[in-house]
Formats: sequence, C-alpha cells, structure tokens
Amino acid sequence: MKELIQDHPTVIVTGGSRGIGQAIALRLAADGYQIILTYVSRPGQAEETVAAIEAANGRAKALQLNVGDTGAIAEFFTEFVKDRVNLFALINNAGITRDGLLLRMKDEAFTEVLDVNLVGAFACSREAAKIMTKKRQGRIVNISSVVGQMGNAGQANYSAAKAGLIGLTKSCAKELAARNITVNCIAPGFIATEMTGALDEEIRERYEAAIPLRRLGTVEDVASAASFLISPGASYITGQVIAVNGGLYC
Ligand code: NAP
Repeated sequence: MKELIQDHPTVIVTGGSRGIGQAIALRLAADGYQIILTYVSRPGQAEETVAAIEAANGRAKALQLNVGDTGAIAEFFTEFVKDRVNLFALINNAGITRDGLLLRMKDEAFTEVLDVNLVGAFACSREAAKIMTKKRQGRIVNISSVVGQMGNAGQANYSAAKAGLIGLTKSCAKELAARNITVNCIAPGFIATEMTGALDEEIRERYEAAIPLRRLGTVEDVASAASFLISPGASYITGQVIAVNGGLYC
C-alpha cells in the first residue's frame, strides 16, 4: 500500500468502501485527489477500493470510522487528518436506512438513522471546517436524497435525516462562505446500489416507471456531480442542492 503524501490535496469520503461512496472515491482519485475513505463494517471491501484506486495510479487510505459516534469523529480528525494531510474536501456520504411505517417505527430506528445520516455529517463538517477555515479554502458535499425533498412512505426517519442535510448544507454554506469554503448537497434519486437492491421487484419497477429518464441512476452519475462540485468550475456555487434523479422530482 502506498503512503499518503502530506501536501497533496486530499478528499475524505465517508462510507467510501462501496456503492455511491466508492464511485465517488474512484472518480475523485482519477481527478487527481488523494483519498481517505472510511468504512464501518467491511474492511475487505474498503481495501478492495483502495487497491482499485492504486491500480489506476492514485493514492488512497481506508480507515474505520463509525459516523454515528461523534466522539470517534473528533478523534479521527485529530489522529488522521489534522497536520497529517492537506484536507481539501469532505464528502459526507455514509448513510443507512431502517425503513418502516410511522405507526410501527421504534424510537431506535428513528434515532439511529438520524445519528448516522445527519448528526454524523454535522460532526464531520464541524471537524473539517476547523481545519479548512485556517486554510481559507475547502469544499463540503453532503449526499442527501430525493426523499428528503419529496418524502417517502416507510421512510419517515430517512427522509427527515435527508431533509435535515439540506438545511445543514444551506446554513453551513452561509457560515463558511467568508472563509472560501463551499458547501453543497447532492440529492440522488434511485441509484442502483446494495441499498436499492434490497427493494422488492414490484416497488423497483414502480420507481422505474415514475422516473422520466426511465432508469435507475448509476453510481457514476452521482460521482460526476461530486467531481463537478469540488472542481474549480464550481467555485461560485454554494448552498445548492444538485438533484441527480432522472427527473423524478423537479
Ligand atoms: P450503501 O451501498 O449501503 O453503502 C453505504 C456506505 O456507508 C458503506 O460504505 C458503509 O460502510 C457506510 N456506512 C454505513 N453505516 C456507516 C456508519 N455508521 N459509519 C460510517 N460509514 C457507514 O449505500 P449507497 O446506496 O451507496 O448510499 C450512499 C449514500 O447515498 C447514503 O447517504 C444514501 O443515503 C445516499 N443515497 C442513496 C441512494 C440510492 O438509491 N442508493 C439514493 C439517494 C441517496 P461498510 O461498507 O463498512 O458497511
């Protein structure tokens, strides 16, 4: 495994071991950034992603971080990021679902989804911003969801967390703009990953029929938007929600 270079512009991708986060890590590595990708439960998958980045001549490191634990997030930034790498961007991608109808949803299913999807993004943004404000430069991209914009039966917890990410994005964008840090959100529609693979066939077909572009999105569709948002071409864009949803909600 190659060592990270201290001065090289570095992007942290939470949940970068598989799915959308993996595609973002691969794309941003191909764009020339050094990548720190985090995982929670699948070290093998994370190492495979690092190997794929290295095979394409990039640099990456996989580290375990449960973004549902704000104490662990603070330690992670102190131990592995601050004064260790040249942090340029943070992609808050890690996310989980615990679907269920409102009347049957347990408190834990609600709070766990909020803790990982929203509180985790808040705590990572706060720690990253401490570093970025000193450099007067940085990019934060939050991965929300179309269901944070339009709601979804069976996902009160997940939709609330994803809607919360949009508010978090807009407030952080206003606070951090003076320090030349942009904060934006991507709201993917239904993207073919393990998360949507868990949907049953009938629901999946219903979603496809409702999407004007008539297909689920690919992980690369989302990675392209992330690549753009941290590129120099997006330096005057902040506080925005970029929908990557095939026209599902527009
Ligand atoms: P996925 O395939 O289930 O991958 C989830 C990733 O998050 C994995 O890398 C996983 O790590 C990591 N993760 C899970 N819990 C974590 C925790 N507590 N702390 C740190 N990392 C954790 O999901 P995906 O479909 O790629 O989704 C990625 C993001 O896009 C999520 O925020 C999701 O809500 C959002 N999104 C997805 C869709 C979609 O259609 N797929 C649509 C809209 C938005 P391990 O591999 O170690 O478990």
